[in-house]
Amino acid sequence: KAALYENLDEHTRITFKDVAGLDEAKAEVMEVVDFLKDPKKYTKLGGKLPKGVLLVGPPGTGKTLLAKAVAGEANVPFFSISGSDFVEMFVGVGAARVRDLFKSAKEKAPCIIFIDEIDAVGRSRGKGFMMGANDERENTLNQLLVEMDGFATDKGVILMAATNRADVLDSALLRPGRFDRQIVVDRPDLKGRTDIFAVHTKNLSLSPDVNLKALASQTPGFAGAEIANAANEAALLASRRGKQSIEMKDFEDAIERVIAGLEKKNKVIN
Ligand code: ATP
Repeated sequence: KAALYENLDEHTRITFKDVAGLDEAKAEVMEVVDFLKDPKKYTKLGGKLPKGVLLVGPPGTGKTLLAKAVAGEANVPFFSISGSDFVEMFVGVGAARVRDLFKSAKEKAPCIIFIDEIDAVGRSRGKGFMMGANDERENTLNQLLVEMDGFATDKGVILMAATNRADVLDSALLRPGRFDRQIVVDRPDLKGRTDIFAVHTKNLSLSPDVNLKALASQTPGFAGAEIANAANEAALLASRRGKQSIEMKDFEDAIERVIAGLEKKNKVIN
């Protein structure tokens, strides 16, 4: 599972129009987009851009989507890796993979490196669970810090990372010159949920009775991922029911299913 390089095909490219309800977060990452489009314009005057942007928020709120959209808007490659990929690795493998990742990225600059679930590797050092496994995690984290310090932003590589636990991160990661910018990606409000429903129903055959705002008011607490899931589930239900278009009833039943699924998941966790 090496770092994945996404080809930014014009037809599959993710841009800001795919990301709904995160206007503030979008405005904040706009600077990164501008920079990636033309790194020289920024570095000419000697200014330093943030090296790392940390996206913080609950699961499924669109952190990965937003990072991909930044790459899509700037039309640059996107390298991604998940912190959980580094768990249970043999000695030296994690650090070597981090080294390779930065090396490949520098060759493709300007570009973005995205680290999902950075808390899995970036948890505070020295408060570990099992020795051994934990030592290797620390090696990986140390290598990440070394790599971050070892490149200048003017090379055009911007690091983005996502977590839902910023509080457990090693403070070394949050120092100036590392992840010195934090952006909150929260669950959507009513307007945000309406917009996310709009994004995820735009290619569906909807019956005229479908009211997106009403759906949004039936889904308080839903993150974007759950809304995407409900929209797809509604389409499948309507097909199974032999309908020509998706009706309000299909959405309502789909929403109930998603809620039931969430409740089951929470029961397993508790
Ligand atoms: P995790 O922390 O679990 O990795 P995440 O915050 O990275 O979650 P994504 O993986 O970006 O969430 O979201 C999953 C899917 O949910 C997206 O691919 C998209 O289909 C949908 N989604 C989430 N948030 C939004 C949003 N703001 N606008 C449109 N779609 C969204």
